[in-house]
Amino acid sequence: MAKLVNEFSWSVSRAQLFSECQRAYYYTYYGSWGGWEAEASERQRLLYILKNIKTLPMWAGSIVHATIGEALQRYARSGQAITAGELQARARTQLRSGWVEAVNREWLARPKKTNLHELYYGNGQSLPPADTDGLKERIYECLAAFAESAVLRELLTVPYLNWKPVDTLDTFAIDGLKVWCAIDFAYTDPAGVLHLIDWKTGAENRESLTTQLACYALYAAETWFASLDRLRLQGVFLREKARVSDYPVGAEMLVDAKDRILTSAAAMRQALDDAQANVASEARFPYCENERICRRCNYRQACPYVAGAGP
Ligand code: SF4
Repeated sequence: MAKLVNEFSWSVSRAQLFSECQRAYYYTYYGSWGGWEAEASERQRLLYILKNIKTLPMWAGSIVHATIGEALQRYARSGQAITAGELQARARTQLRSGWVEAVNREWLARPKKTNLHELYYGNGQSLPPADTDGLKERIYECLAAFAESAVLRELLTVPYLNWKPVDTLDTFAIDGLKVWCAIDFAYTDPAGVLHLIDWKTGAENRESLTTQLACYALYAAETWFASLDRLRLQGVFLREKARVSDYPVGAEMLVDAKDRILTSAAAMRQALDDAQANVASEARFPYCENERICRRCNYRQACPYVAGAGP
């Protein structure tokens, strides 16, 4: 198989990490690159393992997203009803298998297997019951809210042919810059309005969600030739009984988002040794020196700023 090339690209999560800690950004997009290869150095391999660690809230979010995505696909294929009990049972299976992967350290051989921050930097085997119970509750609560939501009722009334094939990572271009996005769900309602939906398992952050939904809108315009006056952008906050938060879309919002994306990408490129070849050196990416961010950082074990941290 041909070797993957580390191409420069932009995503909302990449920009967030760059603004939080540039050293963690370097480890994620450069230092860990190739860590999956048999001939990777020990450091690359370690950084690749650390890159794939998830905190409990991130794990909860990915289980909720996967469970919802699969349920909608099953519904489309076979019309299988979507109920809270069924979703929670499927999530329970993912929780059990992920937990076994984490405590058995299966990620040592296969770094994409579940690896939990709280275990990795804890005792590796157990967590306080309040944490594991809280995790389960969070997931069950989000799935019940989804199953009972008005938004689900509405999208189930729409013929499957009006659903868009989404929930996979895809790219589009802004002035030649490759931008990644993965829309959670999209459908066209009977009035011809295209709804672009983002399921949220955390609290609302209007600034970052505006950029994320603007990316969805730019993607929809480029990929599906969607027109702006027939677009609806929605965040659905599952922990708040699936509250729907609308984000007005307009030319100004998209121009602002494009500007923010290009400015952010220019700052990332500025830090490179060779922007054309996408080559970076660790020393050019400063530590954030922020204890609050460092405490929950995946790279504690590898980062000289907190040298000596776990696992
Ligand atoms: S430990 Fe702190 S300084 Fe080091 S990479 Fe993580 S967030 Fe950045």
